[in-house]
Amino acid sequence: MRKWIVAGNWKMNNTLAESIALAKAIKEGSSGLQGGAIVLAPPFTALAAVGETIKGSNVSLCAQNIYCEDKGAFTGEISPVMLKDVGCTYVIIGHSERRKYFHEGDNDVNLKVKKAISAGLTPIMCVGETEEERVKGITQDVISRQINQGLKDVEKIECIVIAYEPVWAIGTGKVATTAQAQEVHAFIRGILKDKFGSNAANNVCILYGGSVTKDNIGDLISMDDIDGALVGGASLKTDGFLGIIKKISGKK
Ligand code: PEP
Repeated sequence: MRKWIVAGNWKMNNTLAESIALAKAIKEGSSGLQGGAIVLAPPFTALAAVGETIKGSNVSLCAQNIYCEDKGAFTGEISPVMLKDVGCTYVIIGHSERRKYFHEGDNDVNLKVKKAISAGLTPIMCVGETEEERVKGITQDVISRQINQGLKDVEKIECIVIAYEPVWAIGTGKVATTAQAQEVHAFIRGILKDKFGSNAANNVCILYGGSVTKDNIGDLISMDDIDGALVGGASLKTDGFLGIIKKISGKK
């Protein structure tokens, strides 16, 4: 049995006060839920405060990005040592917005994934095709390249989470159908089986991301290879995010 994971990516949203209030509401509203992980990824400025707010609860702290060195002259970057220092246990790597706006490629993703693992952080490695790539019929080629290059020289995947986020579904309101999502999730698990063996691959959590809401997650989470969700917009509102958490924890 794989555990479920619901991760909220707050992106570049929320002041310190807003972050603390939202984290407190999620912590209180989800207390007692078992069998999975609830993960919050606030902006860097709120990591320490949110870490304090969720201390001792079943909610975990996640960064939205990482740099692949421990320290030094890398202005504007944040190292794994610093993330651990404020209580992070997860980090999102290779989100499509980082790939698109900050030109991160598969090699950058790979360096960050390896660095996160060696520092003891759980990477949530994001992959996904654009609308153009789907229309061209090359979704599997894109996903296979992102998985193989992102995990190059990674020896163990027990400590990795994968998020399948079709780029055309992120922030657009266009959610993938259950069949589209399950097909890619199963394809990803197949690649992991070839690379790491069935046992290891069957234990990896693969999250779906892209316009998830409490109203559409029920069908998605009933699919065999969908183990949870990475949520953007709907993670910014207490009711919406708690609704997603409750649907997922109730079905898995
Ligand atoms: C995301 O940014 O990872 C995401 C899935 O966003 P949204 O839920 O808003 O589509």
